Amino acid sequence: MTDRYLRFTGSAPGRFLTRRLGLPQPVTLHRWSAERPTLDGPLLHLTAGTSALDPAPVLARTGLSAGDGRPAAVVLDATGVREVEALAEVHAALHPVVRSVAESGRVVVLGAPLDAADHHQAAVQQGLEGFTRSLGKEIGRGRTVTLLRLTDAAAAESTLRFLLSPMSAYVSGQVIEVGGGPVATPEDGARPLTGRTALVTGAARGIGEAVAEVLARDGARVVCLDVPAARAEVERVAGRLGGSALTLDITAADAGARIADALPDGLDVLVHNAGITRDRRLANMGADGWSPVLDVNLASVLCTTDALLSRKVLRTGGRIVATASIAGIAGNAGQTNYATSKAGVIGLVRSLAPRALAEHGVTVNAVAPGFIETRMTAAIPFAIREAGRRMNSLGQGGLPVDVAETTAWLAHPGSGAVNGQVVRVCGQSLLGA
Ligand code: NAD
Repeated sequence: MTDRYLRFTGSAPGRFLTRRLGLPQPVTLHRWSAERPTLDGPLLHLTAGTSALDPAPVLARTGLSAGDGRPAAVVLDATGVREVEALAEVHAALHPVVRSVAESGRVVVLGAPLDAADHHQAAVQQGLEGFTRSLGKEIGRGRTVTLLRLTDAAAAESTLRFLLSPMSAYVSGQVIEVGGGPVATPEDGARPLTGRTALVTGAARGIGEAVAEVLARDGARVVCLDVPAARAEVERVAGRLGGSALTLDITAADAGARIADALPDGLDVLVHNAGITRDRRLANMGADGWSPVLDVNLASVLCTTDALLSRKVLRTGGRIVATASIAGIAGNAGQTNYATSKAGVIGLVRSLAPRALAEHGVTVNAVAPGFIETRMTAAIPFAIREAGRRMNSLGQGGLPVDVAETTAWLAHPGSGAVNGQVVRVCGQSLLGA
């Protein structure tokens, strides 16, 4: 789908006119490509307070140099900020450089987990969340701002690489926590999923197709699942990616067993992407509008997850990535059914994550897309669609590949310390926190 307004603001007259009229000024985001795989410019590493973290060795491996010139990325280590006075150092560090960050650049603030035994530290570290979200809303020019809470820089390497790359183009205003789970280093950094098998539901088109494509790019053998009615499309996608197709309805009672039977050698990455909408206000919604949405988007996710974990199909080091939505966080008129199902996915992730890691060595996370340009959003009436596109800090809709890149980061062997997170891929949508 073409975003004509984005193309208009990309032209000189369009830029002039929209600036004069005070209209949104989205820029074409720098996304990953084989020709332009890294951000264009150096990395500036700053510190506020007294840090014990030492992220420098990890930052040196991100592919960004520490040279002079307009920074493409600024990393501010604020993990040692424990008192209100020290917050002035956050201001002092970023105030002089924020304007010079390159277009489509990154600001990543490193924070510490909140200390339950020290309300001064907790207040100040929580303050960084407000700071990050506000800077994300004002920085503009396709630049993103993220708060990463961590205790160990090495455990956060895959996350820092993702955030400091064009792969995270549509992730902004987010707070991500990296804990202390097991972290593996892939032999081939360019194809980190080599030797791993990934199953993607709803892979015939849209976001699922993009997820399968990016996981295959990263070396995974992909199994593309979709309904029997989409057999031709899903076989085409699987064939193009050198993977295999599996056609079944994930709401079928035997779906988990059939998936398990199709994966006799086990599974490493399970992506619950299939989803449907049946939008209507509650007063106009019959049971035929309610049940299918809950069945596809939530019940099937619960059932297949349980089946694949209990049958030990998911191997140790495995990854589950479920697809939520910002509607599941903020709610949306006409989507009581959909928002219930997607909020349910978030509940599943938060509850299961610690147990799945402890009992199976499997992480469980969610991506929560905002407005993504797909057939699902093309069906939205024009005025609502245009509002959905612009109501975020980047002033544009995301692309399926943005959700796919985020999924691939969560699926990465080095992301074992990222667990129970709900990461919004929404350009910092104004809906919800
Ligand atoms: P889409 O409609 O383009 O694709 C969904 C795919 O899921 C289709 O190929 C469909 O055949 C498949 N599917 C549906 N029911 C199925 C079933 N019972 N069994 C197996 N496969 C089934 O949707 P999309 O826009 O690519 O969305 C993908 C996911 O992202 C969904 O979970 C959706 O809720 C979520 N999401 C999308 C957006 C967006 O803006 N597009 C925003 C938030 C969340």
